[in-house]
Amino acid sequence: MTSILLLGSTGSIGTQTLDLVRQSGSGLSVSGLAARTSWETLLEQAHEFGVTQLALTDTEAAASARPHLAPGTHLHEGPEALQELIHACEFDTAVHGVVGCAGLPASVDILRRGKRLALANKESLVVAGRHLMALAEEHGAEIIPVDSEHSAVLQCLRGEDRARLKRVLLTCSGGPLRLTPSADLDRVTPQEALQHPNWSMGPRITIGSASLMNKALEVIELHHLFELTPEQIEVVIHPQSIVHSMVEFVDGAVVAHMGVPDMRGPIHHALHSPDRPPSPVRGFDLKAFAKLEFEAPDPVRFPALTLGYECIRAGEDAACVLNAADEVAVQAFLDGAISFTDMNRVHHAALEKRQGDASSIEALMAADLRARTHAQEAVQTLTASGPAAPKTASSP
Ligand code: MG
Repeated sequence: MTSILLLGSTGSIGTQTLDLVRQSGSGLSVSGLAARTSWETLLEQAHEFGVTQLALTDTEAAASARPHLAPGTHLHEGPEALQELIHACEFDTAVHGVVGCAGLPASVDILRRGKRLALANKESLVVAGRHLMALAEEHGAEIIPVDSEHSAVLQCLRGEDRARLKRVLLTCSGGPLRLTPSADLDRVTPQEALQHPNWSMGPRITIGSASLMNKALEVIELHHLFELTPEQIEVVIHPQSIVHSMVEFVDGAVVAHMGVPDMRGPIHHALHSPDRPPSPVRGFDLKAFAKLEFEAPDPVRFPALTLGYECIRAGEDAACVLNAADEVAVQAFLDGAISFTDMNRVHHAALEKRQGDASSIEALMAADLRARTHAQEAVQTLTASGPAAPKTASSP
């Protein structure tokens, strides 16, 4: 029996993880559940899976949940709730599906407990990859990626001599705007950018799939997980999302990991690796696999990808700042405050003001906060000079 602590249980990764627990017979159990605001869903999950250790990071949501708690249930609440839950629970694997840099302290605590971290919160690695890989080593913990491409690479490399690895071909669907001409990109609406053709994911990652920022963050994630240089990582657009990534060895052999796009695949792998028990994920499908296309990404229409590589080369706090700026930019785009192409301007504005200190997790958390302020300032400047300007000018 594998006992799971599930952070972000009401989100996309969380609900798909619970679907696997539901279908696993007696192989998986849940010892703790955490969410931000969706307290009603959290309590339903707690009831269904018999969980008594819960966390809600939003204090208002926690206050709403409190009168409805089943006897014997402990609810951790507020900004420290995730960390309290990590220390209060007994578990083998933590599935970490919290979105954003807010998930970093939880990653640190899970690794310090020496547990397996099934990591869907890629921001943890983007922001503090060097520190997290060192923590895992120091505490005998494991980081297993719950990102379809990284899970694919991990599986392609199993049993291979890493010294024989030439490069990784990181696949990318191209997202909903793959065929949108440059001239139309600044008129893209949040609704259009949220239409991912293949994958069912949360809003931040879906917008990131449209701008290719998600792929930029994945390049950084890959660099840390497998100690790859930027030159060893090549992004390949593959619209069908059947090949989840490929590795090329020095002898010219290319090994690909394939499957239908279903996040339960990488979650299942992270829970059971290196074992492969049966799962509800569909296998080879002639119809879906019949036509596989590959093309090079367009760095002009999608400048985010280049930024990802630049941040690896710059090191220090660059990736942390890029991630923080993007969290702010995506929210501003979803709120209708800035255009799709403005997001890139926000990234650059924040990167120009970075200070460089990446000496500790605390220094990076501080860099994250500063970058958010700088990104907000950039959003305000863009809003003032953007579509809202004529209205202001014509008012008395
Ligand atoms: Mg991915």
